[in-house]
Amino acid sequence: MKILLSIFLLLFLFDSTAQNGVLQPKKPNNKNAVALHAKPKLVVGIVVDQMRYDYLTRFYTKFGNDGFKRLINYGFNCKNNHYNFVPTYTGPGHASIFTGTSPKNHGIIANFWYNKFNKETVYCAGDSSVLAVGSSAEAERMSPHRMKTTTFADENRLFTQMRGKTIGISIKDRGAILPAGHSANAAYWFRGRDEGNFITSTYYMSSLPKWVKEFNASNTAESYLREWNTLYDIDTYTESGSDLNNFETGFKGKKDATFPYDLATLKEKNRGFDIIKATPYGNSIVADFVINAIEAEQLGKDNFTDVLTVSFSSPDYIGHNFGVNSKEIEDTYLRLDIDLARVLKALDTQVGKGNYTLFLTADHGAVDVPAYLQSAKIPAGYFDKDAFKIKLNAFLLENYDASDLIENISNDQIFLNKVRLKQLDLELNDVQYAIVNEVINYKHIDKVFSSQTMQNATFSNGIETLVQNGYHQKRSGDVIFVKDPAVISYSKTGSTHGSGSNFDTHVPLLFYGKGITKGSTHKKTEIIDIAPTISALLGISFPNGSTGNVLDFVID
Ligand code: ZN
Ligand code: ZN
Ligand code: ZN
Repeated sequence: MKILLSIFLLLFLFDSTAQNGVLQPKKPNNKNAVALHAKPKLVVGIVVDQMRYDYLTRFYTKFGNDGFKRLINYGFNCKNNHYNFVPTYTGPGHASIFTGTSPKNHGIIANFWYNKFNKETVYCAGDSSVLAVGSSAEAERMSPHRMKTTTFADENRLFTQMRGKTIGISIKDRGAILPAGHSANAAYWFRGRDEGNFITSTYYMSSLPKWVKEFNASNTAESYLREWNTLYDIDTYTESGSDLNNFETGFKGKKDATFPYDLATLKEKNRGFDIIKATPYGNSIVADFVINAIEAEQLGKDNFTDVLTVSFSSPDYIGHNFGVNSKEIEDTYLRLDIDLARVLKALDTQVGKGNYTLFLTADHGAVDVPAYLQSAKIPAGYFDKDAFKIKLNAFLLENYDASDLIENISNDQIFLNKVRLKQLDLELNDVQYAIVNEVINYKHIDKVFSSQTMQNATFSNGIETLVQNGYHQKRSGDVIFVKDPAVISYSKTGSTHGSGSNFDTHVPLLFYGKGITKGSTHKKTEIIDIAPTISALLGISFPNGSTGNVLDFVID
C-alpha cells in the first residue's frame, strides 16, 4: 500500500508524458516565472529633445524602414502620451522620464531656478564641488546632486550589486546626467566652443577612458563642420513651410535662414563647435559616440542588465532657431531617422536582436512660432517679462509703500522677499492674495495661483494639476502664473516650450524589444509611467519617488 502511494505521488510530481522513458520534472508553466529569468541584457532609453508627437505622423511616409518605423511597427506605440506637469523644460523632462515622478518630488523644477534660501540662481546639473574632466571650462562642472530621487538606472545598479552598468550620453550635460542618475558609471556630454570633445566630470571619474580620448582625437567633430543641405530634394519636403519665411532666426553670418548652410565658414560667428549642436550633425556625432560606447563599454554582454541613456539634443536647438514648421526641422527628423537606424543596427550586432529593450520619448514638445499662428488667425502672442515686473512692482509700491517686495521672477513664479514682509509687518498670505487678484488682470495672463493654493487644494485634472505636479514646496515661488495658450516669452522667430498646452505635453512614447508586446494605444499615458514600467520589466525596485503607473499592456 505504501509503495503504491509513493508511485502515485511520483506520478503526480512528474510529468506523465515521460520523454525517452525518463520521468521529467514538471516545468512551472508560469509566464511570470519565465519573465523573471528573461531580462534584457541592456535597456536603452532614448530621448529626443523637443520632439512633438506629431513629428512621428507628419514625417511618417518619409521615414525609412529601419529607424522610427521599426520601433512603431515592431514595438508598442503609446500615441497619447503626455507630460503631467509644468514647466515642460529639458531638465524637469529628463528627470521625470527616468525617475518616474514629477518636479514636485524629484525637485528639478526648471533648468535654472532661484534658490530662495541662498538667494542665488542655480542650474539643474551645476555642481561647484566637482571639476570638468576632458575640459578645463568652469561652466562644465556638473553632477546630478540637485535631483532628489533615484532613476530606474540607480535601482538597477542597487539590484545588481553595482554589476549592471549605467552610461548616459547627450550633447547637453543635463540630457546625459539626469537620466543616468546618481550611481552612474559615466555621463558624457559635448563641449563645443573651440574644443569639440565629449567630456565628463570628477563626479564620475578622474580621467576620460581610453576609448573616449581616442574618439575625441579622431577629429569626428571637425568632420561635421561641413555643408548642411537637405538630405533629399527640397521640393519633396511637402510637410513643412517654405524655406524662406519670417519666422526663423537662422545662423549669425548668413542673411537668410535658407539651405545650404556652410558650417566651416559659419562656425566663426556661431561659437565654434557649438554650431554642430544646432544642426542634424549633432545627432550624428551622438550616434557615433553611442555606437563606440556600446562596444568599448561591453554593454549588454554579461547577465547583469546594463542601462544606456541617450538624449539627442540637436532637434531642440534647431526648433528654437528655425521653428517647428521649418524645412530645417523636417530635414533634421529625416536625418535623425537614419542615425537612429545606425544605433539600432549596432545594438543588433553588439548586443543581439531580442536581447535589448528600448524606449524612445521626448523631454517636451514645442509651440508653432506664435507669429506664424497669428498669421493663421490662431490666438497666440508674446509676453513681455520686463513690462510685467515693472507693472507689478508699481502695484506693490502703491499698496504697500515698498519697492523691494519681489525678490525674483523666474519660470512664471514670483518669489517674495520674506525679510521685507516681516519688517513691514505684512502677512505672506495677504500679499500673495493681493498679487493673485492684481496679476489676473494683466494681458496674456490666463491663471494665477498662490503657493497656499498649491499646498492646500487637491486638483484632479487640467492645468491646475500640471502646475501642482510642477510645484515643489522648498524650491518653488510664492505666486505661480499661467500664460495664455501659445503665448511665450521669446523672440518673434523660432519655437520654444514650457507650457501645459498639448503642443508641449504630447510627446512620442515607443517601446521596443525584449519583453515588449507589439501594438499601440490611444489610451492616455503619462511620462512618469515609463520608469515604473521599465522597473517592472526588470523586476527591480521602483525609483524611490516614483508615482507613475506600470503600463502593463506594453509588457509581453
Ligand atoms: Zn529639451
Ligand atoms: Zn529656412
Ligand atoms: Zn528647448
